[in-house]
Amino acid sequence: MPFPQRLVEGYQSFLDGRLRHEQDRYRELAEAGQSPEVMVIGCCDSRVSPEVIFDARPGELFVVRNVANIVPPYAPDGHAHGVSAALEFGVAALKVKHIVVLGHAHCGGVKAFAEKPAPLSPGDFIGNWMRLMAPAAAKAGPQAELPWADYLARLEQANVANSLDNLKTFPRLREQIERGEVAVHGAYFGVATGELSVRDEETGAFRPVATGRAFA
Ligand SMILES: [Zn+2]
Repeated sequence: MPFPQRLVEGYQSFLDGRLRHEQDRYRELAEAGQSPEVMVIGCCDSRVSPEVIFDARPGELFVVRNVANIVPPYAPDGHAHGVSAALEFGVAALKVKHIVVLGHAHCGGVKAFAEKPAPLSPGDFIGNWMRLMAPAAAKAGPQAELPWADYLARLEQANVANSLDNLKTFPRLREQIERGEVAVHGAYFGVATGELSVRDEETGAFRPVATGRAFA
């Protein structure tokens, strides 16, 4: 199969539009290197692209994405850990000032976990990965009295909170957070509405970050 035509067309549009406007910035970033202040840990979901949601320019966001925006707990066990490696690079080498865990509505990973035992796929990896969400399910509490959609939203938001907790299991990062050198934030994107909510660290509630327009 050939390289997807949609990507060729998209790239042509990038060449004719955005690259023309941002060529100098790309050159500067190539010479000076990247120094993004914000790291985003998001979901692989094709509808939840951090660069699009935050209208980011090249060099502004250091992004790692995985199924259900999970930060696994610190585990220096000699195995390969993709998220932990990205965290280490973002914090130690790039010295990002903010880490944003970006959850979202209608998350297939969260839904798969909630609907257990039906897995997202019958492969070797999803099950183990989604098990990392168990503490989030404990935080979300029982589903019993909630409509299913509301429960999923609660679990999606608890999953963000759980990833924030896991960030603090990384000893060096925890120290930097305590010293105020790095701030961690939870955010939640409503896919249907486009509404972005940010987690209040005190109360744990997610509140819309921008006002002035109605989200339909
Ligand atoms: Zn997702």
